[in-house]
Amino acid sequence: ALPTADGDFYGLMETLSDDEREVAAQTKEFMHTHVAPIMNEYWSRDEFPKHLIPELRKLDLLRKIWNEDGTRKPNATIIEGLVTLEACKVDVSTAVFFGVHAGLAFASIALGGSAEQKAEWLPKMMDFEAIGAFGLTEPEGGSQVSQGMRTTCKRDGDGWILNGEKKWIGNSTFSDLTVIWARDVDTQEVRGFIVRAGTPGYAVKKIEGKIALRIVENGHITLGNCRIEERDRLQAVQGWRTTADVLKLTRAGVAWQGVGCAMGAYELALTYSQTRKQFGKRIGEFQLIQNHLVHMLGNVTSMFTLCLRLSYMADRGEMNDEHAALAKVFTAARCRETVAFARETFGGNGILLEHGVAKHFADTEAIYSYEGTNEINTLVVGRAITGLSAFV
Ligand code: FAD
Repeated sequence: ALPTADGDFYGLMETLSDDEREVAAQTKEFMHTHVAPIMNEYWSRDEFPKHLIPELRKLDLLRKIWNEDGTRKPNATIIEGLVTLEACKVDVSTAVFFGVHAGLAFASIALGGSAEQKAEWLPKMMDFEAIGAFGLTEPEGGSQVSQGMRTTCKRDGDGWILNGEKKWIGNSTFSDLTVIWARDVDTQEVRGFIVRAGTPGYAVKKIEGKIALRIVENGHITLGNCRIEERDRLQAVQGWRTTADVLKLTRAGVAWQGVGCAMGAYELALTYSQTRKQFGKRIGEFQLIQNHLVHMLGNVTSMFTLCLRLSYMADRGEMNDEHAALAKVFTAARCRETVAFARETFGGNGILLEHGVAKHFADTEAIYSYEGTNEINTLVVGRAITGLSAFV
């Protein structure tokens, strides 16, 4: 029988190992049991449901991706991708909370921290006892953040003084630590710092009024003569290269967000088309609706296939920046198209939160613009294939 009930039309899940499928199933169950019943309420409140963190901890997902010494499991990127896929089918914000903590923040310490720093933070982060955030983007520096970074650090005796602002920082309203990237005023090098909550001079204000990802909390951070001890400077950071390596990993994760968001929207639209009646027929009987559904299915199938291949490459050490960038460009654009068809399939109900698809429709806009906008990731790939840079 054809697997028509979900977006996995070619049975790609069957190509995965039992362990991988089990992680996907556990995430799916968590999302349906704990997140689905409350997500519309938290979306309306513009708030992250922090009481779910202990439930999430029970899945022990980080230990399926990372080792405690900061190295990755052999199939880490596949596992991360499947967690993201299943989470995003229900709610992209939940995947973003996880991706910021277990991806951006954790990876910064895993790739840029000393053995002591890893020993201090990684086990606590694996247990969600310390929640992480990642502060790179600035009010005046999104796409050009590497060249235009205005946040500064200056050596001061046995510590550092940080000054600047960071915008959009996920989880930062309640994080225990935020990795802050800053430019050294003396050497011009990019450095990373673990900034602990409550550090004098460090302040976070929640960004209000988002129309996407409302269940994730984003903060605007100010650093005013904020003093950080040398022991909290990430000791193994190799300038911007380390930041880029973190982003390469998480960009693959954002590509998976596009797959999950689109697949969730497709599945909702398919179900709706089989039940909603107009002109005495289920709308799924109309040729134009079938055309939408088949277009959506083609999109999610190609996205899923691409991301599985990308993750296999990542886990073999074969994924470069451009591979991750192309996958992100492709899935974000196909996601946007897919959720628009899905929303359309619901007619007026498509803009009501209670029917589910409206949240996917809004969230795809964030996927499109973060972790490098589609334009920037396109130019990264364009530079690689032509040998010509459009940036300068
Ligand atoms: P801009 O850089 O101002 O871009 C504006 C437009 O100009 C875009 O269309 C862009 O593509 C285009 N553009 C810019 N340069 C070029 C060019 N050379 N050629 C063609 N077009 C160009 N950051 C963090 O550090 N941590 C986080 O946790 C985090 N979470 C986020 C969560 C959300 C919901 C959002 C929306 C953002 C988040 N970000 C985070 C920031 C995110 O990475 C940036 O928004 C993104 O990099 C784009 O930067 P910008 O918004 O400043 O847009």
